[in-house]
Amino acid sequence: MISSEGKLARLAADGHSPAVRLFDTLTREVVPLEPVDGKTFRFYCCGPTVYGPAHIGNFRTFVIQDVLRRVLELGGTQTKHVRNITDVDDKTIRDSVAAGMTLAEFTAGWRGRFHEDCEALNCLKPHVEPSAVAHVPEQIAMIEELVAKGHAYASDDGSVYFKISSFPEYGRLSRLDTRELDLGKTQNTRANSDEYEKDNVADFVLWKARREEDGDNFWESPWGQGRPGWHLECSAMILKYLGTTFDLHGGGEDLVFPHHENELAQSKCSCGGEFARHWFHSTHLLVNGKKMSKSSGTLYTLADLTAEGWTPMEVRYVLIGANYRKQLNFTMESLHAAREALAKLAKAAEGHDAPGYRELTKGGDLGVFAGAFAKLQDDLNTAAALGELFGHLKEASTDDDWRGFFSILAALGIVLPDAQGFEIPAEITALAKLRWEARQAKDWEASDRYRDELAAKGWTVKDGPNGYEIVPG
Ligand code: AMP
Ligand code: ZN
Repeated sequence: MISSEGKLARLAADGHSPAVRLFDTLTREVVPLEPVDGKTFRFYCCGPTVYGPAHIGNFRTFVIQDVLRRVLELGGTQTKHVRNITDVDDKTIRDSVAAGMTLAEFTAGWRGRFHEDCEALNCLKPHVEPSAVAHVPEQIAMIEELVAKGHAYASDDGSVYFKISSFPEYGRLSRLDTRELDLGKTQNTRANSDEYEKDNVADFVLWKARREEDGDNFWESPWGQGRPGWHLECSAMILKYLGTTFDLHGGGEDLVFPHHENELAQSKCSCGGEFARHWFHSTHLLVNGKKMSKSSGTLYTLADLTAEGWTPMEVRYVLIGANYRKQLNFTMESLHAAREALAKLAKAAEGHDAPGYRELTKGGDLGVFAGAFAKLQDDLNTAAALGELFGHLKEASTDDDWRGFFSILAALGIVLPDAQGFEIPAEITALAKLRWEARQAKDWEASDRYRDELAAKGWTVKDGPNGYEIVPG
């Protein structure tokens, strides 16, 4: 059998070092990522709950997961990426009932919108994208297994709960220490909602008995009519598509507890195996320094930003602007900076054709940009990789350098705007014209106002001897 080191050496012969190292939430250490089966790196990411449009915070998480996959693949490692669609839970049911639509109709619309946003943001499609509703029998089978093994019990109303005191490792992933968690004392405390806080550590629901407010959304089960609890779906789908031991599991930091803690408990207790060998969590995106919220008007969707003239690529650029474990604060200034940076990269790339993604995964020397790729392999340090990319831009001259340049862009999932022809929206051209006319009329106040308005939308007007030029930034 080939040793894992031998394998690394063999993969490295094509010019890339395949060793991606990543911070593992379970061990709190940066560890090398190597496929447990020696062939394909198999990973699972919790997908969207399709009850509304995903916001740019969600996309920070999905985009960094996409970058991880790209860095692995460009380093010569094959991947299998599974990401679910949560199409039955408290929120999807609540909102579909309120909208007077069937759950299927309601979630199909939001799933479609999610796919459009992912495509606009240039995220690779997962290899498998299972949905919870399509896997109810698998979830019931897992509950039966847990009941049979003494890890779950039915309550009087026909709901079924996971008994956390039956799993001494409960709390290890999210570091609930014994002061916070005396498993013996959790007997009979139960959490029936899909989401709850660490203070409410309790037996969690696997099967929810049918309730009035669920409308027509129920399934038959050995415990009567009802529906699966949210945490269960990922465990059941992981078993089906990745087996009992796989390489990595990821999501935003809010998922560590209770969602991932619960997944881990259910899966290990029902089918054994190691479950995820590593855990990958990204820090939440802030907007203007605060948690995003609808009431403060800071909950942006991609559509909100494109309606203001920003491109999805500018949004993606902002989302990868900081290391995924660091706080990232989304501001309008950061979009301006993204526009300028992309314009600079596009100018540098003028006259050079970008090879296709598959071509780049074949590897090769990365010239002056080898260091930038190494930064990505080092715990996905996107900020440092961008620093290296810009730092070496002027030196790029050989074919290897250009392969390196496009490999970094491919790893970050950046598609450059056309350097020659920025698409200037009609509204921007009109504002620039008004500004020019105000200047001709020496109405400085109006001209400044138009300038500010243009700046707020991400455009600058440069005046020259023969008129003006509109440039991004
Ligand atoms: P949801 O659709 O609510 O299930 O969330 C989808 C993904 O987005 C999950 O991995 C969440 O952890 C993640 N997420 C939610 N809010 C944010 C945020 N503000 N920043 C980054 N990721 C987030
Ligand atoms: Zn999950």
